[in-house]
Amino acid sequence: GTLPAPDLVEEFVEEAHQRNQSLEGGSVADYIPALADADPNLFGVSVVDVSGDAHDAGDTDHAFSIQSISKAFVYALVCEELGHDATYERVGVNNTGMPFNSVVAIELNDGHPMNPMVNAGALTTTSLAPGTGDEQWRWIWKGLSAFAGRHLVLDDDVYRSERAGNQRNQAIARLLESYGRIEKDPLEVVDVYTKQCSLLVTARDLAVMGATLADGGVNPITKERVVAPHVCRDTLAVLAANGLYERSGEWLFEVGIPGKSGVSGGIVTVAPGKAGIGVFSPPLDDAGNSVRGKQATAFLSRALGLNVFASD
Ligand code: GLU
Repeated sequence: GTLPAPDLVEEFVEEAHQRNQSLEGGSVADYIPALADADPNLFGVSVVDVSGDAHDAGDTDHAFSIQSISKAFVYALVCEELGHDATYERVGVNNTGMPFNSVVAIELNDGHPMNPMVNAGALTTTSLAPGTGDEQWRWIWKGLSAFAGRHLVLDDDVYRSERAGNQRNQAIARLLESYGRIEKDPLEVVDVYTKQCSLLVTARDLAVMGATLADGGVNPITKERVVAPHVCRDTLAVLAANGLYERSGEWLFEVGIPGKSGVSGGIVTVAPGKAGIGVFSPPLDDAGNSVRGKQATAFLSRALGLNVFASD
């Protein structure tokens, strides 16, 4: 199938925003102090299709730190570099059923990070970027910017704020090092990871980044090939299984397309061959997923007929 006509998409994007604007519930993340200041009323919904047509409603130009959503795109970049088998062996694909920063999940799985969307797997993935330290950071920065089709900027306040309090991620990286799963300097890996999480994006950027994965790895705005089609397939399968933390099953059941959320309130969702959806609203459910973002995306999936399991 294809997307409905552009004026209809535009209408549904407006409606997804309108319907959920006054939706209450959830709370803004505060374990990273700089995130606690986010305005809970901000709400943006953006859809970009694979031909580059964009539809926006609400605060789609408001910049926020990408946080965990970076995991999806860094995974794609590393997958492109290492290939299917090596990435699978090193990082895995299976859901832990546990919170994103679980140490227990590592211990229960003989030191395996399990999947690239929890912190253990994301830190392992970042460690697999070519080079060390600053080289890795520049490679990731450039790659995420290519997905967005513009030069992304680091939020220094968020970076410093998270860096001052990321002892748990340091512990996870050290634990993975002890199991031979991280072979580079673990604290340097945590630093690169913290920077990748601090890159500023908008809901519109997320839609473009998602549309690039929907488009087989070609950015529909810049026309640059960022990754190969098989990398998109692998990445989207991993997102389907793990993109919404321990609520990934629920998400797939209700929304039926792969997505990735982050604790600053963004969600990117990908309808393969069709479009990317970017939403932003800071209040989160207890797993870390944007409350309004989930509802707006679920609405759009139904309205635009995006569920990959639907045969009608
Ligand atoms: N930088 C955050 C962390 O590692 C990302 C968390 C998230 O968005 O899930 O704790």
